Amino acid sequence: MLTKPIPQLPGGLVVDGELRKSYRFRPITGALETRLSELSSGAASYSDATYPQIVSAALECTLDRIADEPASLELVNRLSVGDRQFLLKELAALLDNRVIWVTAHCGKCHEPMDVSFRFQQLPTKQCSAQYPSQVVVTTIGRLVARSPNGSDQCAIAALEDEQQAVAMLLSRILSAVDGGAQPAVDRLTAGDRQHIEAALESMSPEVTDRLLAVCPACEAHNQVPVDVFDHLGKSTAALLLQVHQLASHYHWSESEILNLPRQRRLSYLQLIDRARGLASRETGIEVMQ
Ligand SMILES: [Zn+2]
Repeated sequence: MLTKPIPQLPGGLVVDGELRKSYRFRPITGALETRLSELSSGAASYSDATYPQIVSAALECTLDRIADEPASLELVNRLSVGDRQFLLKELAALLDNRVIWVTAHCGKCHEPMDVSFRFQQLPTKQCSAQYPSQVVVTTIGRLVARSPNGSDQCAIAALEDEQQAVAMLLSRILSAVDGGAQPAVDRLTAGDRQHIEAALESMSPEVTDRLLAVCPACEAHNQVPVDVFDHLGKSTAALLLQVHQLASHYHWSESEILNLPRQRRLSYLQLIDRARGLASRETGIEVMQ
């Protein structure tokens, strides 16, 4: 019998000296979808949180395990930026893997153009053998450069001055090769910084957040940005309708319905439809096979 392969991160976490890549999401329930929607719209108590903090909260509540360990905020924050992008994309695909249409305007002729994609199909670059850190030779000596993670993103998110943010990021991810004194990052030259950036880019995992599109009017090639996180909270209206349908039919409470695994909820909705002899539902979400 074929067993389902354990999903793997494109980067991974070093735990007890080994690079571990496994992860597992919790069963997606309506309650989780509601939480994601609140996080996505920055509602309630999250309004003061920065974007990386909200992403951390979303990953913490939806992940069951990371790197063979129980998921926690600490582990979610230790994940590299690329792994976090990857998990958001996988989560979005779990919630909605239909074709998504985005309308953008051509950068050249400004005519509107429609671009389609599926979350599952956004290309992912795997990390290199050097990941998560590698030695970089700079004018102030040999330094170890570590792939930036969620904690780094959270630390610099509140800084408005970009130079200050870059300096703080460099001081967090760079260390002396021999574990000696913290390198003086303010003495790094522009060339050093470029060199470090190139090393980070080549070893780190990454998920494409841009779609290539050819303008139908002038044939110019465009890059259209995709905001995966923005899509995570889009299913609330459909979810409310589903709760209404199930509550009317089975007389279950809202919390009972919201705690059903998503797949079970959708199966019940199909049963109701079949009983009514409808060919299609108006809930707005397809049942994934
Ligand atoms: Zn155009």
